[in-house]
Amino acid sequence: MKTFSCEYDIAVIGGGPAGLATAITAAREGKKVLLADKNGFLGGNLTIGLPLLGFLDEHGNQCISGFAEEFVQRLQARGAAYGIRPCPKHNSVTNVDAEAVKILAFEMCREAGVQVLLHVEAIDAAVEGEMVKTVTLYGKCNRITVKAELFVDCTGDGDVACLAGCSYETGRGEEQEMMPPTVMCTIENVNDQALLDYVAEHPDEMKPMSATIETKPGYDAAYFKADPNYVFVGMTQLWSRLKAEGICPVERGNMIVINGLHKGQMYVNTTRLLDVDGTDVFDLTRGEMEGHLQLHKLIETFRKFVPGFENCYISSIAPNIGIRETRRMKGLECVTLEQALEGAVPHSSICLSGYTIDIHYNNERGTLFKKLERPFGVPYGCLVSPERPNLMFAGRCISVDDHVVGSTRVMPCCMAMGQAAGLAAAMAVTEKVLPGQVDVTRLRRALKTQGAILSMEEKQ
Ligand SMILES: Cc1cc2nc3c(=O)[nH]c(=O)nc-3n(C[C@H](O)[C@H](O)[C@H](O)COP(=O)(O)OP(=O)(O)OC[C@H]3O[C@@H](n4cnc5c(N)ncnc54)[C@H](O)[C@@H]3O)c2cc1C
Repeated sequence: MKTFSCEYDIAVIGGGPAGLATAITAAREGKKVLLADKNGFLGGNLTIGLPLLGFLDEHGNQCISGFAEEFVQRLQARGAAYGIRPCPKHNSVTNVDAEAVKILAFEMCREAGVQVLLHVEAIDAAVEGEMVKTVTLYGKCNRITVKAELFVDCTGDGDVACLAGCSYETGRGEEQEMMPPTVMCTIENVNDQALLDYVAEHPDEMKPMSATIETKPGYDAAYFKADPNYVFVGMTQLWSRLKAEGICPVERGNMIVINGLHKGQMYVNTTRLLDVDGTDVFDLTRGEMEGHLQLHKLIETFRKFVPGFENCYISSIAPNIGIRETRRMKGLECVTLEQALEGAVPHSSICLSGYTIDIHYNNERGTLFKKLERPFGVPYGCLVSPERPNLMFAGRCISVDDHVVGSTRVMPCCMAMGQAAGLAAAMAVTEKVLPGQVDVTRLRRALKTQGAILSMEEKQ
């Protein structure tokens, strides 16, 4: 075993949308920043073909900007993203080239001076008093002890916070049911015009799969045909026929495909793995295996039954099963469903979330898809641990309730929180204070100068 130790101002663990934004923002403020990830690349779920949802609210007004928009604009400049397009179903969609994300992530880290360390997983956190003193990373018989003033947990799962003994909640209801994961894949050779012609003639195929899905008119063939920047959620009649015949390859009532940036390319978000806890390696192994096997059957079903997909094939399978939900860490503050539904924007908000409450269930209830009349604010305290004062979180694992996570989990929101966490961490290090002592008014002012949107009223 090789052992190393190193010291940083700020150590960010997890290099997905939240971790990228956190580390790059903090490094741009001149801090010595480590960004560590267990993968051999950066970007987390932004590299599996998913569109960025949530830049616009229900009414088409932009509620997220700043780092997230900068990232998209830089992809767009090289033809690797389609911009922000209003969508009657998802408020907005921004489809990206998943591979280009990995390259841009490295470029931006290098420009900002972030020290990147890959192939390492956080396996321990040493706590003295209440403070996290070190986090231990491990990979390939290398053991690295990282000392830092501040740690930011961007693992999605709250792994570092969990290792440091912080409290958390999981799932919904007595059974703590978590959303089912999905193994994504990329397919090529799709004739999307044939699919769109078919749904133009069979509009019933676009009917939502369950009554819990709120939808608006206009999510139809004409919308898809007008612009290749779309996410297709449909074929519900076909799927129920296949179910009735006992030949539906997945436990869901529709197909979700994301139109790729290249002709004939689509990302497939249609597998569903039931009862998989994303923090349990045995469940993860079962999920990966079942997901791959589901993909095989699914693509055969596409070829046989879905117009335009007759000659499609899998060109790649996502390197990791896509986890929608695990731990929600306890923070100084927590957003409740009630607050989200009333569009509460507290004075301590560091970003807005305008995306739908989008909860996938593990069973025949399908999906809860509840639109928000207006965006709500994510208070700074949702990112700060009350138990470990030099630990923050950003991304999927922040302190929100079991339904609000259905909105805050989307990637632009994770990036917006990351930008706030990175800036707050840098301020805390400069001023030699703990994250909980950062002056939120000054933090908000600084975020605004970086383009962040903190209130819909001020924006207009
Ligand atoms: C199937 C699926 C569909 C989705 N659809 C959409 C969509 O259409 N649009 C949208 O905007 N959002 C969507 N989401 C939600 C979104 O992708 C995630 O919630 C978001 O990526 C979370 O960002 P994050 O940075 O918190 O975590 P992640 O993207 O999960 O990144 C976490 C990073 O931390 C690393 N990591 C984890 N644990 C450790 C550890 N112990 N040590 C070191 N590194 C670690 C991982 O390798 C990863 O790089 C979807 C999610 C899934 C799974």
